[in-house]
Amino acid sequence: MKPNPQTEELSYSTSQKQLDEAAAIIKLDPVAYELLRRPMRELHVTLAVKMDNGSTKIFQGFRVQHNNARGPNKGGIRFHPNETIDTIRALASWMTWKTSVMDIPLGGAKGGVICDPKTLSPGELERLSRAYIRQTASFLGTEKDIPAPDVYTTPQIMAWMADEYSIMQGNNKFGVITGKPLALGGSAGRSDATARGGIYCIREAALTLGINLTESRAAIQGYGNAGSYAHKLAVELLGLKVIAVSDSKGCIYHPEGLSYEKVMAHKKKTGSVAGFPSAIAISDKELLELDVAVLFPAALDSVITDANAMNIKAKIIAELANGPTTPEADTVLYNNGVYIIPDLLCNAGGVTVSYFEMVQNAYGYYWSEDEVQERLEKKMKTAFFAVEQKARSYNVHNRLAAYIVAVERVADAMKLRGWY
Ligand code: NAD
Repeated sequence: MKPNPQTEELSYSTSQKQLDEAAAIIKLDPVAYELLRRPMRELHVTLAVKMDNGSTKIFQGFRVQHNNARGPNKGGIRFHPNETIDTIRALASWMTWKTSVMDIPLGGAKGGVICDPKTLSPGELERLSRAYIRQTASFLGTEKDIPAPDVYTTPQIMAWMADEYSIMQGNNKFGVITGKPLALGGSAGRSDATARGGIYCIREAALTLGINLTESRAAIQGYGNAGSYAHKLAVELLGLKVIAVSDSKGCIYHPEGLSYEKVMAHKKKTGSVAGFPSAIAISDKELLELDVAVLFPAALDSVITDANAMNIKAKIIAELANGPTTPEADTVLYNNGVYIIPDLLCNAGGVTVSYFEMVQNAYGYYWSEDEVQERLEKKMKTAFFAVEQKARSYNVHNRLAAYIVAVERVADAMKLRGWY
């Protein structure tokens, strides 16, 4: 994902605001509230990395563990030049809520290193990855905290990290990290899991709303892992017609629908969806405001705000991106009857299959892609209805309902453990 530089610092206050709202509605115990409002542990590390030219460069890194009341902490590692501790704190808390909404026995964490991976050689990237693990290893472990890929970190980086951790422990500990390549204990079905989980939710939302999706229109902002698989699966599993897609270089529109295979082939050849033959170039604003059944924000945070929420015509917004809708926009959309499948739920297929990866690593027994998809569908449906039911019983929008489900579960676990 590409973080939105204008809005990235807002994340921490947004995440706290969302907790505040849920806490007020469920009258959360004040001590539980204080515990949840801040991370339980933070580690700040200084990494010395040998560069190819013989010099040593110093990097700053973090690992934040928000809450492990329901199980070991889980969350990605980001390599980004604009990384900040506040962003990592917000994302760590989002992982607590996401694992809780999905009812998987994990807590929430996030890590990051301030660096520009695009300027590092493969050797420098490997040494940086290994240095991060050496400095954070005492925080990590299959029973403590299990990282995963995130912004600008890849399965290859996960493989180096799993290797470094295994060397330190003296035996193979592949389960310490997820998102690994298949040959090192990765899970089948991980690559499309985020989009697939969102698609399963849309199917349930359409049934709930009584909307027939076959041949209905959809638009997708972002064409990376989440957005491109959303295109493929929206057509394959829901029969949607995807009329517009975009990436950082441009937006394309075709009223008759865009072929996933052809757009992908064009992107592979040119590096972007922009310039796709026969499509019309439109603006990002136009894409978001198209008259579609389903809108997939799958790129940046804070793209639906009080400035454009009134103009959104989609019936369903499937938030594959983290934090694409601001709290102010939420209220406008809810009042206008737009059905949001909130990020905590919509993009949780990724962490769910990461959890499946941990389970398979622990057992040393691997599932087929069909088995992974079947289990994912079951998990997504159960979580969808938990949120849907909470939205109805409290008469609140789905995001708030997802927070209520998540916060109640974590608060119950803390209570049972005697933390308050
Ligand atoms: P990615 O890096 O693979 O792709 C991001 C895409 O967004 C790229 O196509 C990029 O060109 C596009 N983009 C950047 N700026 C844009 C702009 N201004 N307008 C339109 N498109 C723009 O990232 P990803 O893994 O697909 O993640 C996308 C979002 O989904 C992020 O918010 C991420 O946090 C969230 N997410 C992803 C996963 C996952 O498993 N990949 C899981 C949970 C959440």
